[in-house]
Amino acid sequence: CGIVGYIGFREAWPIVIKGLKRLEYRGYDSAGIALIDDDNLNIYKKAGKVQELENYSVGKNLSGTIGMGHTRWATHGAPSDRNSHPHTSNNGRLSIIHNGIIENYATLKEELLRRGHTFNSDTDTEVLIHLVEEIYKNAEVDLLEAVRLALNEVSGAYAIVIMDQDNPNELIAARKGSPMVIGVGQGEYFIASDATPIIEYTKNVIYLNDNEIAYVKRDELLIKRLDNVIQTPYIQELELQL
Ligand code: GLU
Repeated sequence: CGIVGYIGFREAWPIVIKGLKRLEYRGYDSAGIALIDDDNLNIYKKAGKVQELENYSVGKNLSGTIGMGHTRWATHGAPSDRNSHPHTSNNGRLSIIHNGIIENYATLKEELLRRGHTFNSDTDTEVLIHLVEEIYKNAEVDLLEAVRLALNEVSGAYAIVIMDQDNPNELIAARKGSPMVIGVGQGEYFIASDATPIIEYTKNVIYLNDNEIAYVKRDELLIKRLDNVIQTPYIQELELQL
């Protein structure tokens, strides 16, 4: 399973698809991608190989300089188109990709159902983005803070990336127990489960630590911990050759 994200000045689609292919060796049963073009969120997802996602996407709107892609190894909900990631919030504006398991998703889901949320999948992942939405809506906080507060209510392991259709200039990524690397370019950032999707674009990377959240804009990166302490990013140079 794997994660690829991009925000910058290039078209995201080819970078994300190529990255997902580089991560195929990790194993997966489904693949999906989300792109924001102007203010429209476009999501394409399919059970099966990345190649099938590509075939399915022919002729669709694949524009956008911000995007994220996912290969899924199903843990909660059968491998199917509807359980494939990305998943969206109740209002359809926030989207998430996730590798790992949200252990307390059932309790969280019950509460969200009581508050009127409806769900489109059987995954633990969808519950997390609805929780973020609920906090974002009710507390007077920005999305980064809503994600931080939501993750403080979650137990389990995760690498996640979140996009907001209303804020096409930012990506939010976080990890606990699942690997995540951020590639640092000039006016662009790359996110991936390991460095292989990133190496052809930049050698400068930051390995996110457990319990860290990254707020990524085209020309700005902020990393904070779940306890709200701001971290100084440590940029390493990759020695890996392709
Ligand atoms: N638990 C999530 C699901 O079943 C993510 C699985 C993964 O790591 O790909 O959809």
